[in-house]
Amino acid sequence: MRTLTVELGPRAYPIHIGAGLLCRPELLEPALGKGPVAVVTNTTVGPLYLPTLRETLQAMGREPVVIELPDGEQYKTLAAIEQIVDQLLAHGCDRSTTLLALGGGVVGDITGFAASVYQRGVPFVQIPTTLLAQVDSSVGGKTGVNHPRGKNMIGTFYQPRAVLIDTDTLKTLPEREYRSGIAEVIKYGLIVDQGFFNYLEDNMDALLAQEPGVLAHVIEQSCADKAWVVAKDETEGGLRAILNLGHTFGHAIEAATGYGTYLHGEAVAIGMAMAADLSRRLDLLRESEQSAIYRLIKRAGLPTAAPALPVADYLRYMRVDKKAQEGRMRFVLLTAIGEATITGDVPEAAVIEAIQSHME
Ligand code: NAD
Ligand code: MG
Repeated sequence: MRTLTVELGPRAYPIHIGAGLLCRPELLEPALGKGPVAVVTNTTVGPLYLPTLRETLQAMGREPVVIELPDGEQYKTLAAIEQIVDQLLAHGCDRSTTLLALGGGVVGDITGFAASVYQRGVPFVQIPTTLLAQVDSSVGGKTGVNHPRGKNMIGTFYQPRAVLIDTDTLKTLPEREYRSGIAEVIKYGLIVDQGFFNYLEDNMDALLAQEPGVLAHVIEQSCADKAWVVAKDETEGGLRAILNLGHTFGHAIEAATGYGTYLHGEAVAIGMAMAADLSRRLDLLRESEQSAIYRLIKRAGLPTAAPALPVADYLRYMRVDKKAQEGRMRFVLLTAIGEATITGDVPEAAVIEAIQSHME
């Protein structure tokens, strides 16, 4: 097992990574308060992993309240928060309750948000079961739900007490979801960690095969890279925005094609290819580095080509991106593999060329 710490002063917390961690009461114990424990999960993950987690809690003398939500991004709404609050109240859960989020990023975001507002805030623990949640959404303290007018429009910054990553849970994750998570892994190499990018070049096949040592290292390094960025800029005053590499293009692809056509990581992969292309067009990035980026994305089985939609559609969605300031698009670009920069100063013609050159 490996443990790293997210250094946030009084809000610092451990991330434990390894196989079989759902069966380790001693990792859970320090994160739980004296009061009730409530597990929030969904109808897919609950049947797979709740029995093991429940047994571990029972061995500690804790019988959890279980709240099972329907599975899907479309249920990441305020209605889910109300449902959680209803059930917590029905079970007499007071301010000493700890919430455990067992599931992917959707369950994690909902549970974290519920924990941040239930009786003005109760502790929570992330137990992420998708690769994306293990390397990205469970770390950093962004929580929230969607509004009919936009994704993640309601939320809080609220850090968990601990993150427990049991790598065994990935064995049941659909292959496409797993590859989608690898896009965010590649992102860390691109924005802050050239050594990690090189490691991924050498070990992509082992990663795809979920070779235990490689998998644990990749999750640990991804969490470490994200935790480093978050520790420097917890509430996204500046630096944290580099975590959005490929996301301005990616969100436009997801929105313009209708959410669900592309998985998030697939859209981000195309977006990172576009961002690399734009960086090279602006003479920030070398062509050989751009090629290496495309090669690695493709080896992960991820796309680099975008759907052929009118460029105006892309631009429209990109302008409403949360990073846009006063309607001006802002881009995370690369000056090298492992070095990102944020700029609002990009000629629109170059953006259009970058998009068009990726259309299928
Ligand atoms: P998800 O939670 O929808 O999970 C994907 C699918 O896999 C779901 O059907 C889920 O039930 C299933 N699943 C989960 N674990 C499984 C397992 N071990 N075996 C089999 N099936 C399993 O999607 P996701 O990609 O994990 O998360 C996406 C969400 O995360 C989005 O809502 C996004 O906004 C959010 N997110 C948040 C942050 C953040 O910083 N808070 C960062 C990135 C993404
Ligand atoms: Mg993302």
